Amino acid sequence: MNYKVMIGLEMHCEISKTKTKVFSSAKNSFSETPNCNVRPVDMAFPGTLPVVNKEAVKMALMASMILGCSQPEYLYFERKNYYYPDLPKGFQITQETKPAPVGSYGKLIYECKGEKKVVRINNLHLEEDAASSDHYTSCSRINYNRAGVPLLELVTEPDFRSADEAVAFLEEMRSIYQYAGISEADSKKGQVRCDVNVSIMDKDLDDSNPDNWGTKVEIKNVNSFSGVRDAINYEIQRQIDLKEDGKYDEMPQQTRRWDEESASTIFMRGKVDAIDYKYFVEPNIPKFKISKEWLEEIRKSIPMLAHERKDMYMKEYGISEYDASILVKEKPVADFFEETLKLGANPKSASNWITTNLLGNLNKMEITIEECKLTPSHLAELIKMVEDGEISSQQAKGVFTGSLESGKSPKDIASEKGLKQITDTGEIERIVNEVLDENPDIIEQYKNGKVAMVNYLVGQVMKKTHGTANPSLARDVMAKEIEKR
Ligand code: ADP
Ligand code: MG
Repeated sequence: MNYKVMIGLEMHCEISKTKTKVFSSAKNSFSETPNCNVRPVDMAFPGTLPVVNKEAVKMALMASMILGCSQPEYLYFERKNYYYPDLPKGFQITQETKPAPVGSYGKLIYECKGEKKVVRINNLHLEEDAASSDHYTSCSRINYNRAGVPLLELVTEPDFRSADEAVAFLEEMRSIYQYAGISEADSKKGQVRCDVNVSIMDKDLDDSNPDNWGTKVEIKNVNSFSGVRDAINYEIQRQIDLKEDGKYDEMPQQTRRWDEESASTIFMRGKVDAIDYKYFVEPNIPKFKISKEWLEEIRKSIPMLAHERKDMYMKEYGISEYDASILVKEKPVADFFEETLKLGANPKSASNWITTNLLGNLNKMEITIEECKLTPSHLAELIKMVEDGEISSQQAKGVFTGSLESGKSPKDIASEKGLKQITDTGEIERIVNEVLDENPDIIEQYKNGKVAMVNYLVGQVMKKTHGTANPSLARDVMAKEIEKR
C-alpha cells in the first residue's frame, strides 16, 4: 500500500458494576422493564439535584490508573448542552479536558497478532449515558432506564495503523474492564460503543509530525467490534479511492455513520456544521478533593488482570502459554478454573478438562460458562475420581458429558451408569491372555524385537474392556504375560 493509515478511537463503555446510576439512586441495571429504573433527577424534574456516586468515581479512577493516566487533584464535571429526546435535561453531565478529567495522558501495551504494540491514551472521562430509543414504523419509544448510567469515555491518540490493531486494543480494553470488575463490557447489551477516526497519508511522510496528517473523518457510534473493523476498512478504501482520483484534498473534515445494512459509511455533517455544545462547569456539583490516601487505597484494590493471571498459571501451575491464554481470554472461564482449584483439583487436569472438553462443548451448545450446568465442584469431583482410580479416564469423558447435560454430580452419574474401573489383577490377567491368544502374529513381531507392539496389545485390552481397565495395571500385566509366551 502507498499510504499510511492513522486511526484514533473514542471508546464509550458503561460502568455496569455499580449498584446505582452515576448521579441518582436509580438502579443501574440492563435487563428490566422499560422506564422502571428512573428517579426524578434522571428525568430532570425541577428542583432535583445530582449526587455523585462514589463507587462510579472509584471505578473510573481505577481504570485511569490501569491506563497509566494521571489523576486529577479535584473532581469536576461539565455540562454539554444539546437537545435530544433521550436527554431530558437538555444537557449531558460530562468532563471535557479542563481542568482535568479522571484520567489524562497514559498509555497501554496490547498485543496484536503476537506483537506488542503501544497506544497513547489522551484522556479518560466519566459521564452519564443518555436514554435509549427504539424506532418503529409509526412511532419511537424511549427507555429512560439507561439515562444516567455511568459511562467511561476513553480517547486515544491516532496510534493505530490498521483495523486489526484497533480491534485488538478494544478487546484488551474489554478484558481490562471485565477483570477489574468495572463492567461486563458486553457489546450485545449495548454497553460498548465507539467513534472511529480515520485518515490516510502518503507512506513516505513522517507520521510523528501532525502537519503531515491527512484529514480526519469521524465515524460515529459503531456498536460492535466487527462493525469497527468493517467501518475502518471501508473508510480506508474510500479515502484511497479519493486520493487516486485526485479528490482527497477537496474532502472536508466530516462526521459519518456506519450503516450495517449497506456495509458503508454515510455522510452526516461537515466541520462547518459542528455543534457548539457551550460547555461550562456543572454548577450543581461542588468541587471535590481527591485525597492521596483514597487514590492509594484504590491502587491497592486493583484486581489481578488477565495477563497477570496468565503469568501466574504458567509459573505456579506449569500450564503452557497456549492453554493459559485460552483460560484467561474470558474472565468467567478464568474464574471457573480458579474456583475448581480452590476445591482441591490438580491445576493441569483442571486446565485440560476446561480447554479441551468444556469450552468446545459450550460452543456446540451455544451457551456461556455461566449458563452451564456443570459446576467447578463437579469438575473437581470428577478429577478426584480419576486420580483415585474410581473410574478410568475413558469413562470420565462420558461422566463429564452426563454432568454437563444434566447438572447431576459425577458420583451420581457414575453410579447410575454402574461405572467402575477394573483394578482386579486376576480379571486383567484373564483379559490380557485372551488378547495374547488372539494375536500370535503380534507376539512373534514382539519377540523379533518390535517391543513397541506392546502398546497395540494394551490398546486391545482397553478396547475389550470398553476403556474400563486400569491402564497402568493392564500395561504391567501385559509386560509380564508376554514374556511367559
Ligand atoms: P476533536 O477535537 O474533533 O474531537 P481530537 O483531536 O480531540 O478531535 O481527536 C478526536 C479523535 O480523533 C482522537 O481519538 C484522535 O486520536 C483522533 N484523530 C485526530 N486526528 C486524527 C487524524 N488525522 N487521523 C485519524 N485520527 C485522528
Ligand atoms: Mg463524550
